[in-house]
Amino acid sequence: MALAIVTGASRGIGKAIALDLARHGYDIILIFNARADAANEVAEAIRALGRVAHIAQVDVGKLGEADATVTELVKTHGCPDALVNNAGITRDGLFAMMSQDSWDAVVQTNLGGFFAVTRPIVRQMIRKRSGRIVNIASISGERGNGGQVNYSASKAGLIGATKALALEVASRGITVNAVSPGFITTDMTADLAVDKVVPLIPMGRAGTPEEVAAAVTFLCSPAASYITGQVISVNGGLLT
Ligand code: NAP
Repeated sequence: MALAIVTGASRGIGKAIALDLARHGYDIILIFNARADAANEVAEAIRALGRVAHIAQVDVGKLGEADATVTELVKTHGCPDALVNNAGITRDGLFAMMSQDSWDAVVQTNLGGFFAVTRPIVRQMIRKRSGRIVNIASISGERGNGGQVNYSASKAGLIGATKALALEVASRGITVNAVSPGFITTDMTADLAVDKVVPLIPMGRAGTPEEVAAAVTFLCSPAASYITGQVISVNGGLLT
């Protein structure tokens, strides 16, 4: 049976990814940070689909702890066939006023989390000579977004890491890609002024978590076996 690890799977885009992969035959290890209740609900929904679901609390921004916990998860459940690095946060504000805490939190979680979670898993994937890694980037990392210097830096870094790691492991049968969402309706965007953003989107609406999940599931599927080091944008035409 195929196994996937999805970080930030308790809510939003990560939840949709976990459910979609489960619908496509994956057992899932769901990683959450604070919302055990929400993670449990997602696990129950996955079990209702007839798949196995495990949940694990991991703060991906605490790099040493995250590495240790993920290493244990791999020992217990085996090397996953697919890893989706989705956990992410924002701490928006103008750069001139930005605290070091806001900078550190965003970069540690969004980019450091990729390092801490992926390294122990890719070592096993290299031994197994197969694997799929999908990193959830952002349009803010593709083009930069004022008010999000920390977030744009973390996501641009994640895109660079995606392309570089893809080159390192291509010969081992492992693909590494990024999916880059535009404006998606989740808790993360709940406080943003939708009426100001939506008119900028050529398709005239926000995206759904399920529309992002579909791209992730495709990249994890056998049909995507020759795609690596790519950034697939899911943004309704916001950046072409
Ligand atoms: P969300 O609704 O705020 O959900 C965030 C998820 O990440 C939750 O499951 C949360 O867990 C988890 N998480 C946060 N910090 C974590 C940490 N330190 N360790 C482990 N898990 C952590 O966000 P979303 O909108 O679904 O975003 C998911 C990803 O898509 C993020 O990487 C985000 O940057 C990216 N993205 C989103 C949009 C958008 O428009 N929504 C656009 C572009 C990119 P808990 O539930 O336990 O807190």
